[in-house]
Amino acid sequence: MKVFKFGGASVNSAQAVSNMSKILKSHLDGNPLVVVVSAMGKTTNKLEQLVPGVKPAIEQRFILQELVAYHQEIVLDLIPNSEDPIYAQLDDLFAQLEQRCSLKPTDYNFDYDQVVSFGEIISTTIISHYLNSIGIKNDWVDVRSLIATDTNYREGHVDWQKTQENVDARFANLDSQLVVTQGFIAGTPYGTTTTLGREGSDYSAAILSYCLNAESMTIWKDVPGFLNADPKYFKNTVKIQQIPYNEAIELAYYGASVIHPKTVKPIQNKNIELHIKSFITPECEGSVIGPCRHIIPQTPLYIFKNNQVLLSIMPKDFSFIAEDNLQIIFGYLAQLGIRVNLMQNSALSFSVCIDNNPVLLPKLRKLLQANFKVRYNEGLQLITIRYYTQEIIDSIVGGRKILLEQRSRSTEQIIVKA
Ligand code: ASP
Ligand code: MG
Repeated sequence: MKVFKFGGASVNSAQAVSNMSKILKSHLDGNPLVVVVSAMGKTTNKLEQLVPGVKPAIEQRFILQELVAYHQEIVLDLIPNSEDPIYAQLDDLFAQLEQRCSLKPTDYNFDYDQVVSFGEIISTTIISHYLNSIGIKNDWVDVRSLIATDTNYREGHVDWQKTQENVDARFANLDSQLVVTQGFIAGTPYGTTTTLGREGSDYSAAILSYCLNAESMTIWKDVPGFLNADPKYFKNTVKIQQIPYNEAIELAYYGASVIHPKTVKPIQNKNIELHIKSFITPECEGSVIGPCRHIIPQTPLYIFKNNQVLLSIMPKDFSFIAEDNLQIIFGYLAQLGIRVNLMQNSALSFSVCIDNNPVLLPKLRKLLQANFKVRYNEGLQLITIRYYTQEIIDSIVGGRKILLEQRSRSTEQIIVKA
């Protein structure tokens, strides 16, 4: 059994889906294959705008129309016969989505998962149907009945035992060699939907690889492999040929967008090799994350996180920043499901760097304001450099003002104005 993961960019048009089908065809060799698919293109970003309470109803309607048109165009190209049942199925899914996003806001994280999960359900419905229509027989599986989590919405914690049982039962009864299923989403014991965090489809593929004892897992990307920097921010990138599991975990943790931070652990646990390959040049060798000792080639690695906010939190009662204050602050962060990207404390203030989330940030500030004075700085960039030299740091910072800096033997982290 092999597990493939195709992200949003690999299925963002009819042509992309057709390209994916060719890759699948060339790998169907009689052995079972599980394909984990994300929402098409930038659908998840759009769906985030449809979460109740985020946008006024008129704007929501407009975004929904854009999403309908986008998916319909793809289906029209893939399956031109307008009598095909996929059209009714798509109408039905969009009607459900419209209904869900017009409900009154309740808990933001809960609403988020119920709405945003439509992206993957819609993409896999289209893709599974298309593959069947061109003779690539497959089973569409609702991953919410496989990957079981608690109700920690927007970042569900996996119940590994339940998930293993679900996977064993479902995979004992397959009709075909190929399974098409969703990334990113999962299910609770109460029948509600959770998500595993943005870009969580890699993690989904890793969970399934683990439970299936997969021979290997492959992430198909629009880059030739694991690069030493995101080509969006960096001109001369270097492709890494092989990376030890632990190094990949560190890089993903710091925000290397090539894989989701939780992806590697389950894979490492079972010694499964994780390949990163290009869907544009599938014949080329990509990168391998595996049980090797060293990263090859040895080169500095750069990770950029944009749209960061730096909060400086000071107790109002002139007390020091100590365990009691930290406990309150972390309690709020955990309660809101906010991830800390970098933190630093002094006697009088505690600084945290977090993603700028327009819904959660005001909530956090409001909670903090009872006990703390909060200053904040927006529009920042968090830069992480592994295997840095001072020369490299200087050239990356380029004279910008450094708001916060942290250095260890191997890693430099800097917050600057973007
Ligand atoms: N569609 C989700 C996202 O954009 C999950 C993923 O692509 O991995 O975050
Ligand atoms: Mg992705």
